[in-house]
Amino acid sequence: MNRTRTGSGAETGERRHRVVVVGSGFGGLFAAKALRRAPVDVTMVARTTHHLFQPLLYQVATGILSPGEVAPATREILRRQRNVEVLLGEVTDVDLERRTVTASAPLTTFSVEYDSLVVAAGATQSYFGHDEFAEHAPGMKSIDDALELRGRIFGAFELAELETDPAAVERWMTFVVVGAGPTGVEMAGQIAELAHRTLPGEFRRIDPRKARIVLLDAAESVLGTFGDQLSTKALRQLHRLGIEVELSTTVVGVDDTGIELVDRYGRRHRMECMTKIWAAGVSGSPLGTRLAAAAGAETDRAGRVRVEPDCTLPGHPEVFVIGDLMALDRLPGVAQVAIQGGQHAARQIVRRVRGESAREPFRYRDKGNMATISRFSAVASIGRLRLAGLSGWLLWLAVHLLYLVGFKNRVTAVLHWFVSFIGRGRSERTVTLQQVLARAALREGTEPPALRVPATATPAKPAQTAPAVPAPARAAGVVPGPEAARRGAPERAAG
Ligand SMILES: Cc1cc2nc3c(=O)[nH]c(=O)nc-3n(C[C@H](O)[C@H](O)[C@H](O)COP(=O)(O)OP(=O)(O)OC[C@H]3O[C@@H](n4cnc5c(N)ncnc54)[C@H](O)[C@@H]3O)c2cc1C
Repeated sequence: MNRTRTGSGAETGERRHRVVVVGSGFGGLFAAKALRRAPVDVTMVARTTHHLFQPLLYQVATGILSPGEVAPATREILRRQRNVEVLLGEVTDVDLERRTVTASAPLTTFSVEYDSLVVAAGATQSYFGHDEFAEHAPGMKSIDDALELRGRIFGAFELAELETDPAAVERWMTFVVVGAGPTGVEMAGQIAELAHRTLPGEFRRIDPRKARIVLLDAAESVLGTFGDQLSTKALRQLHRLGIEVELSTTVVGVDDTGIELVDRYGRRHRMECMTKIWAAGVSGSPLGTRLAAAAGAETDRAGRVRVEPDCTLPGHPEVFVIGDLMALDRLPGVAQVAIQGGQHAARQIVRRVRGESAREPFRYRDKGNMATISRFSAVASIGRLRLAGLSGWLLWLAVHLLYLVGFKNRVTAVLHWFVSFIGRGRSERTVTLQQVLARAALREGTEPPALRVPATATPAKPAQTAPAVPAPARAAGVVPGPEAARRGAPERAAG
C-alpha cells in the first residue's frame, strides 16, 4: 500500500502549518512537546513505537530494569497533545523540493507532506570501518541490542557452568568491553557487580567472582571528557571493582572466541573471550547522509550533517537537523544537545508561523556530564563542580529520575534500583530462547539458523546432563557463538 498523508490538520478540514518530526528519541520528542501550544499540526514518524531513554540501556542489558521502564510508548506519552499524531515508519526518503517525507512500515509505505521538517534520526554504532566486528561484539543502541547483550552476559555464566575444560570456562567468564567512555564504564561496572554481588551462591561448579572483566580503549584515559581529576578517580574505582583496564590499546580483530589487540608498544596479542561488547564510537544515521547529499550539504567524519547556526540544513531554512545527527560547533552527542535542539527547532517554527523572519542561532547550555561506575559511585562534572563517589551517584540518581519519562516508570525504576543497589538482586534476568530464535530468524529473513555448537568450545558435561537449551541458545545468539546471529542488519542499514 502506498498513500500520501497530508497531516492531521488537513484530514479534519483545517490547513495549519504542518510539521513532520522524524524520530521519537530525545530530539524528536522534545521538539514535538515544545509545539504543544503552537498553531501547527505535528506528525511524528519513527521506526520504533517507543521513546528510548538510551542512558539506561545498560541497566536493561544487566538485568536491573525492564525494557518498558526505559522505553515507554511514544503515543502514550503524547496522548494528551491533540495536535500530534504518531506514525510508525522508517523514513527512507525526503523530497526537499516537494516537501514530502516517504516512510515504510511493515506491509505499507506512505508519504507525509510538511511545511517544516525536524530530522532527529540519531546515530548508529560505529565500528570505525570494521562492521564485521558487529557480529561478535554487539553495540548498545536499541532495546534489541540491550536484550541481546542480556542474553549473552547471563548466558555466558550458564555455559561456563556446563564446561569441564578450565580454558573454556575461562573463555566464557571473560567479558571484554571496548570503549572507556560513560557507556563502557557503566557496562563494565555493572558486569562486575553482577559477578561479585548478584550471582555468587547461584552456581555449583563455577565461582562467578572469578569472572574477568576487561575494559579497553585506544585513548590514554577512561572517561577522557571528564578531565584528569575525575578520570583518575574513575580509574581507581574501576580497579577497586576488580576490572582490568587496558588503555592505549587498539582492537584489530574480533572473532567468535576472542579479540585481537595492539598495545601501546605496537605489540599484537590475543585475548580469549566469548562475550565482547562494543561501546566505542557512533556515526550519524544514514538518513543524514542522504539528506546532506540531496541538499548539497556536508557531513563530518562521523556522518553527522553540518548545519547552519540555527540548526537548519544549508539552503533549507524549513528543515532542522538536530541531536546526534547534527554537526555544529563540535557539540557532543548527548541527550541535552538533542533536547535543547528539539526545543530550539520548535521555537523557530513558531517564529516562522508568526511571520517573524530573523533566524536565531542555537545556543547550547551545557548542563554537565555524569557517569556511574557502580552502585553508590559516579562522577559528575557540572560547570566548575566536580563530584565523585556517593555525592556524584546521588546527583546521577536525581537527574535520571527527572528525565525518565512517565510517573509509573519512575516508581518502578526506583523499586528496581532498590532491589539491585540496596539488595543484591536483579529483577529482570529473563531471556527466552523463543525470543532469540525469532530474532535470529528475522535477521536471516528465512528460518532460524542451524543449531550447532561452536567447534572451538569444548562440549560441556556429558550429553545426558546438559540440557538441550544451551546449544540452540548458542546457535541463536543467546550467548556468543559462531552463529551469533548477524547483528541487527535492518537497524544498521536503516535510517
Ligand atoms: C548506551 C548509551 C548511553 C548513553 N548515555 C548517555 C548519558 O549518560 N548522558 C547523555 O547525555 N547522553 C547519553 N547518551 C547519548 C544520548 O542518548 C543521545 O545523545 C540522544 O539519545 C540523542 O537523541 P536524538 O534524538 O538525536 O537520537 P535518538 O535518541 O537516538 O533518537 C533517534 C530516533 O530516530 C529514530 N530513527 C532513526 N532513523 C530513522 C528513520 N530513518 N526513520 C524514522 N525514524 C528513525 C529512532 O528510532 C529514534 O526514535 C547515551 C547513548 C547511548 C547509546
